[in-house]
Amino acid sequence: MKESPLFSQEQLRESVESLTQKNYQERRRRINTELILEGNHKLSLASTPEDVYQIFLKLLSQFFDYETALIFSRDSNEPSWNSFYASPGSESIAWTSGKWTRRLLRGDVSVIFDARQILEFSAMPEAVIQANYSSAIASGVSCEMREWLLILGHSESGKFGQDHRHLFLRLLPLLRQRLLNLEYQDQLKRMVARRTDELRHSEQRFMSFAQTASDWFWETDTNYRFLFISSGLGEQSQPIYSELLGSSLLELHASLDAGEESLHNRLSRHSSLRNILFTLNRDDPESFWGALSGEPYFGSDGQFLGYRGSVRDITQERADRRALREAKEEAERANHAKSDFLAMMSHEIRTPMNAIVGMIELLKENALGGTADQLLSNASQASGLLLNIINDVLDISKLEAGLFELEQQHFRVSDVVEQVYGQMHESARAKGLKLSYQMDTSCQQQVYGDAYRLTQILVNLVNNGIKFTQHGAVSLTVHGVVRGDYNELTFKVVDSGIGIAPDDFKRLFEPFYQLSRSHARMYGGTGLGLSIVKKLVDTMGGELDVKSEPGKGSCFTIALRFPISAREPLPSVTLLDQPVMTPMSILMVEDSPSNQLVIRLMLEKLGHQVAIAEDGDKALEYPGLEQFELILMDLQMPGIDGFETMRLLRKQGISCPIVALTANVQEREHCIEAGMDDFLSKPLTRKSLLQLFKRIQSD
Ligand code: ADP
Repeated sequence: MKESPLFSQEQLRESVESLTQKNYQERRRRINTELILEGNHKLSLASTPEDVYQIFLKLLSQFFDYETALIFSRDSNEPSWNSFYASPGSESIAWTSGKWTRRLLRGDVSVIFDARQILEFSAMPEAVIQANYSSAIASGVSCEMREWLLILGHSESGKFGQDHRHLFLRLLPLLRQRLLNLEYQDQLKRMVARRTDELRHSEQRFMSFAQTASDWFWETDTNYRFLFISSGLGEQSQPIYSELLGSSLLELHASLDAGEESLHNRLSRHSSLRNILFTLNRDDPESFWGALSGEPYFGSDGQFLGYRGSVRDITQERADRRALREAKEEAERANHAKSDFLAMMSHEIRTPMNAIVGMIELLKENALGGTADQLLSNASQASGLLLNIINDVLDISKLEAGLFELEQQHFRVSDVVEQVYGQMHESARAKGLKLSYQMDTSCQQQVYGDAYRLTQILVNLVNNGIKFTQHGAVSLTVHGVVRGDYNELTFKVVDSGIGIAPDDFKRLFEPFYQLSRSHARMYGGTGLGLSIVKKLVDTMGGELDVKSEPGKGSCFTIALRFPISAREPLPSVTLLDQPVMTPMSILMVEDSPSNQLVIRLMLEKLGHQVAIAEDGDKALEYPGLEQFELILMDLQMPGIDGFETMRLLRKQGISCPIVALTANVQEREHCIEAGMDDFLSKPLTRKSLLQLFKRIQSD
């Protein structure tokens, strides 16, 4: 049997051919792949879409035989297309989207055999289509921001086939990826630019604030060293700025209160700093003072990075405050000095005044007859007025200097009211006015407080009522309500006089203020009465109110509360008309010759025998001391004073009553506490002497 050959000649040839073809294809594929890789590398270096397309078209030209290239682009959210590129010598057209374009944008690659069949080419002249797009291949790329269309054409038909389509499909992702990357880069660049812009703006804003603010802003590192200080306003801050920069927060001379936590401790605990006052130069602290506030700041990982905050320059503020304080102290000192001077002067004037008043009183008792009596009565009025003025000046200066103290004693409001009435009814009657008083039973109750000052308040108000009323009446009413341990009293002084305009109410209580100059001329007075009343009422914790209508009259209301006194009721104070007393042997210890004269005359007129010692030493050595039944003791004398003399007399066994004589009415309580048996205030009047003898002789 004849063996047939394994492969026929024909088969062998076919196999060689297919092998060669495969080889060829393989080589082509390899070359293509290499070209694509190289193209991709070049694409990755392109930095603009123009570069990208230039490289891409070059890459395509290695696979495609095309003559014309058209590229359109548009923003993703825009409907119309713009021509992006048209190869030299070709003509672009206005491109309108249709179904075909949408297909391309979805990533399809279309091979065109007859462009006239496609709507998008309808605007293109026939001749142009023939010359450029007898055959064409096209595709699209859709990125995030932009969309692209790419059309390659050839004047010959049938130039592009499936192979081209597949190759195009392989290349498209490279193009898309690069375009997308460029978009991202672009977005990123824009974002960075925007952020940089924002940052620059906020930095500029901060710098403008910092430069124009009077405060400075600062920042330290972790060692509390100043890294940044805004220069702040004004050239004067420059030296301080340069001094601080680089130094540490711990080097500031902080002025902390005793017991306050040190700066070092606060910083190491990372606590906030609030208004720490500091100076830079301990030797010249007034050159600069700042108030520093700050907060620690931390990195995103929570790591401590330093402190930042602000400094307020308070140098001027401190200097102003010091100047103000000094001016205030100076003014207070001057005011004190004035008050002291006034108080002292009034005191000095009071002593001779007392003598004058006393002597006039004595003279009045010896009727001289004719003009002498009239002159005496005038002198008596004038001296009484002068004494009132002196007393007012003394009171207001004490009240203003804060030297004023209330005295506390047990008394009945009804006694005070009767006394005021007794004191004032004569002057009302002389003017043809009706003065009346009314009070409820609670006024009989004994209370505890300053009766003397209450009398002064009421006398002032009733006196004004009489002074500023020409016709009609002045009344004083008192209404009390007992609440717990207190009697809450309302005093009303009502007159039918000239009245006060509402606008004047607020100035009514200013010292030395009189509502009209004509008042001063017509009615006299100093303008001190109401300011004393107001200050006394305030000191006594009460309230004062005025209601008035010009031409109709005024009503002054005072609310005061006094604690009810639990002490045995006092005998009612009645004014004695007739002296009913046993003559006594009296020693008067008094240094002023005029007072010696007046008081001696008064006492002798009452039938007493009077001996005089000019000072404490003389009194202690007075022969037959123990014979005296009463000693009147001046308090202010050269050498040993009245209190000391009294104590020494008591030591010597002298037991008769010793009564203080003083021009200072406020010493009453003090005298009793110091061991005096009683108290007489100068100027002594017949009335006050009679009352004293009644008290002594009834004991
Ligand atoms: P003075 O009476 O010594 O002038 P005051 O301080 O007591 O001083 O009174 C101040 C002024 O207030 C008086 O000058 C007077 O113009 C006015 N004033 C006081 N009380 C009355 C009153 N009852 N009616 C009318 N005006 C009064």
